[in-house]
Parts: sequence; C-alpha cells; structure tokens
Amino acid sequence: SESKPAHFLQNIIREDLAEGRVSQVATRFPPEPNGYLHIGHAKSICLNFGLAEEFGGTCNLRFDDTNPAKEEEEYVASIKRDVEWLGFEWADGVKYTSDYFDQLHDWALHLIREGKAYVDHLTPEQAREYRGTLTEPGRNSPYRDRSVEENLALFEQMKNGEMEEGECSLRAKIDMAAPNINLRDPVIYRIKKMAHHQTGDKWCIYPSYDFAHGQSDAIEGITHSICTLEFEDHKPLYDWFIENLPVPARPRQYEFARLNLNYTVVSKRKLKQLVDEGHVDGWDDPRMPTLSGQRRRGVTPAAIRNFCEMIGVTRSDSVVDVGMLEYCIRDDLDKNAPRAMCVLEPLKVTLTNYPEGQVETLSAPGHPVRDDLPTRELPFSRTLYIEKEDFREEANKKYKRLVLGKKVRLRNAYVIQAEEVIKDDSGEIVEVRCSVDLDTLGVDPADGVKPKGVIHWVSADRSVDCEVRLYDRLFEDPAPASGGKNFLEHVNPDNLKVLSGCKAEIGLAGAAPEQGYQFERQGYFCRDNKYGSADRPVFNRTIGLRDSWAK
Ligand code: ATP
Ligand code: MG
Ligand code: MG
Repeated sequence: SESKPAHFLQNIIREDLAEGRVSQVATRFPPEPNGYLHIGHAKSICLNFGLAEEFGGTCNLRFDDTNPAKEEEEYVASIKRDVEWLGFEWADGVKYTSDYFDQLHDWALHLIREGKAYVDHLTPEQAREYRGTLTEPGRNSPYRDRSVEENLALFEQMKNGEMEEGECSLRAKIDMAAPNINLRDPVIYRIKKMAHHQTGDKWCIYPSYDFAHGQSDAIEGITHSICTLEFEDHKPLYDWFIENLPVPARPRQYEFARLNLNYTVVSKRKLKQLVDEGHVDGWDDPRMPTLSGQRRRGVTPAAIRNFCEMIGVTRSDSVVDVGMLEYCIRDDLDKNAPRAMCVLEPLKVTLTNYPEGQVETLSAPGHPVRDDLPTRELPFSRTLYIEKEDFREEANKKYKRLVLGKKVRLRNAYVIQAEEVIKDDSGEIVEVRCSVDLDTLGVDPADGVKPKGVIHWVSADRSVDCEVRLYDRLFEDPAPASGGKNFLEHVNPDNLKVLSGCKAEIGLAGAAPEQGYQFERQGYFCRDNKYGSADRPVFNRTIGLRDSWAK
C-alpha cells in the first residue's frame, strides 16, 4: 500500500480520524455460514482486516446467521480456518448475529411500542402485490393500523410458536410510497420453525438481514460497515433503523465493488451446486475458487493477499482477468518454492558404463537465489528415469533434449549420450541405454562441445513413487454464469488429468502437505492434504510455469 495511491475508503477513514468523527476504527467481516469462502470473500477479508491493521483498529469476524435453513456448523468451522489461513486475526472472540437475538427482539418491541412496526397478515403473494414496482408506489396493508396492544400480543404469539410459517410477519412501518422499495414497510421478523446451529430451539422467529445487520454493527461499535454495491439501495433502511432505535453507536455503511473473475464463478449458491451435483470432489476440491480449494491446490495466502492488493478497491463493477491471480500465484511460488525434480511419465535410462549397485550423492541448490533454502541431496545411480517426451530417436535442431547418438545434460548432474533404444513387442520405447561422462559435473565435456539441452531425471533406485494431478481451469467459458447461461454446461471437460506412475526425487518423500515446490521444467506443485499415503504421496499442480492459455 506504500506504492499505491490511497483508495476511497482509506481516504474516508483518514478524514474521519483527522476530524475526530471516529477515534478508533472498527470494521467487521460478516459472512453468512451457508457455504465455504471463495476468492471474492478474500477481497472483503483483506479490505476489512487490512483497514483495521493499517489504522490501528480492530476487525471482528461475525457470522451473519439469521437464516437457519441454509446454515451449518461445518461452514462456521471452515470460515474460521480460512480467515486464519489468510493470516488475519479477529478481535476478541468470534461474534454471531444470533448472540444479539434477545437485543434485536427487544428493539422490535421498541418499534412496536413507538407505532413503527406492525404484525402483517398479508400472504407472501399479497405482500408482493401490495409492494408496488419501481414505477408504481405500493399500497398500505389493511393490517397496517393495528393498535400497539394488538401488535404486541400478535408478535408475542409469533414468538411463542402459535402462528404458522408464512401466516404473518413483523414489518417496519415506514412508507409504502417511498421511491426506494426497501423502505416500503420491510419485513423485520419472520416465522421459521427450525432449529438454529447456535441457538437451538430457542427461537421460531428470526430477524431479517436488514434488521439484524446495522444493529449488530451498532452493538459491536463498528465504525465503518463495509459491504458490496448491491447493498447501496439498503443504506437508507440501514440508517432508518439506526435513527429509530436506542442503539449504543452510530455505524455507517460504505459500499465497494465486488470481485468478479473470468473463467470463475463466485457465488456460494453456484459453488454448492457444483459440490452437490458431483462436478467436483467437495468444497475443497483444488479446482474450486474456494479458499480451502486454493489452499489444497498449493496457492499461498501471500499470493491471494498480493492479488487483493493489486486489484484495488473501487466503486465500479468490473471483471478481473483470472490471469492476474495466476500471475500472483506464480510470482510468490517462484520466489519461495524450493526446487525439486519429478518425472511425470517415466522412461527408463540405463547408464551402461556406470557400476551396478553404486549410488553416489550429488547435490543441488534448494532455490536459484534463495540460499536460505536447504541444499538437496540427489542420489545418482546406474538406472534413472527421464520424461518420455524428453527422448526421440530422431529430431531436428529445435529439439534440445536427448536424441539417439547425441548428448544431453542431466540437470544438476552429468552429461549422457544415448547409444541404443530398447522397444517392446508393440514397438514402444521402454528403455534407452546411454553412456555417462563422469568428468562433466559442473563442467563441459572434454571435447568442448556443450550439449544444447538440460533435462530433469530421478534415480530409479532412490526415488518416490507418486501420483500427480494436473488441474486446468474449471470452466472453459470466460463468463460461465453470465446472461442467463447455465454455468454447469460450461465446465471444462479436461479440467483434471491424473498421472499415476510418477517418480519424484527422494527428498519429496518428506514433503509437507500444501508446501509448494517448483518441479523443474514442469510447474509448481504441492502435496495433497487429503489423498495419498506416506509412501505414495499425491501431488497437485498448483499452476504451470507459464500461462498456457495465452493465445
Ligand atoms: P455469495 O453471493 O457468494 O453468497 P454473499 O455476499 O452472499 O456471497 P456473505 O457470506 O454474505 O456472502 O459475504 C460476506 C462478505 O463478503 C460480505 O460483506 C460480502 O459483501 C463479501 N463478499 C461476498 N462476495 C464477494 C465478492 N465477490 N467480492 C467482494 N466481496 C464479497
Ligand atoms: Mg450476504
Ligand atoms: Mg449469498
């Protein structure tokens, strides 16, 4: 943020502090626990926690849990994990909107007593009809002028479970002719005969989002309540409740543009559909744009935070190129990921002039510039594996790998020359017999002819059998959910390729899950945190070395 000009929220906060309107900044991140967090939420997390950090304030994690029908404890747990993983700390204990149900209920009674709320018996269909449209004012409900006593009695009956779901609701009495439809007597409590993940069976009436949100902000002393632009039209209602209730503080709402990414869907509802219909293997599938999926894939918290910094904060909606996220992922891994070698599709190489049974240990740098990363030990032996695609019987000059009769350098090791090819009955090459020049460690061959290519390899005697999963974009359409398209029809059919007979350098036996590595010449990978065993790990490709989608 040192190099970037301040965004509008930083400016607002700076002025609020300078002019004494606010003495200590307090923000909150308020997810509804109805799904896992995705990359869009990361923008809101980085913004809210980031502003608190920057201005020496606090940021709460508050579960906006007013709809028990869609919420679950599993989601609560995953959201906490993901916020912590991103590297943020919430202020004194997790908050729940449901912690305030008693207070919110009292405030509903307050509005009733002030003649500012009433129990309405319109059916949901009737209520829709009475609400009017953008161009036509609404009409007053015939129940709007009930007495305070009657409203108190009916609301009590609602609370005691004596009414059916949908039979009636509590509405704020504002203005059915207001140009802003949100002010046309919004529902503030509805009946839901359903247990809640935090409050159990205590309640069968639940507050609406609009009634709960600003009041929860006030209870927590939130100074800047930051939400996405679709809540701009709710702001007059947010302010109406704050003005008409004896709340302990006066929070203010500010809106910013949500993150949209091409080739991606960022909607919990749609992501849940991908999970429920089996298009992916759970919310944390490495193809998912969820934080847990990205984490499992090997994306680092720093990459996501850098990305959020790079896209900035504005008030105009736009679509960000997913290539920008990929750039941040690659950039962070390039700087920090230890290097390793892994052969994805092995071809056996026998070094005919290297003693049988001998194993020597070569060494290789952990990283080309980071000398704080430990040096690797590479066992070298008579039988090795190289990539199938790194050998050809014949090739033109552009092919800088191993060719029959020619030389190539083995990365971090010696120069070899291919002498003979062994094929199976079907004509497939199963082995290349080579000679090794043991005078070439770190130096050119004695004849002074430097081999053109360098290829990666592993020792057949001392390597790790593994599975490698190559992921591609989940969607093949840049805007899979736009313009009424069914996003499920645009899932990329080639979004996963599983390679099962891979051979990794021995050091990768001890790879920690989620720790990123650059498999030299292949891309960035991490050990899967869910599948695989101690002696046969699974590695996920986080991202290739270069953007293969750029045309
Ligand atoms: P979804 O549409 O995925 O259900 P939501 O907004 O309903 O998203 P919440 O759990 O209410 O999900 O979101 C918590 C916070 O994250 C809110 O303040 C919301 O504005 C913000 N948020 C959600 N999606 C995005 C996004 N794509 N970009 C920026 N902020 C987002
Ligand atoms: Mg929401
Ligand atoms: Mg939602």
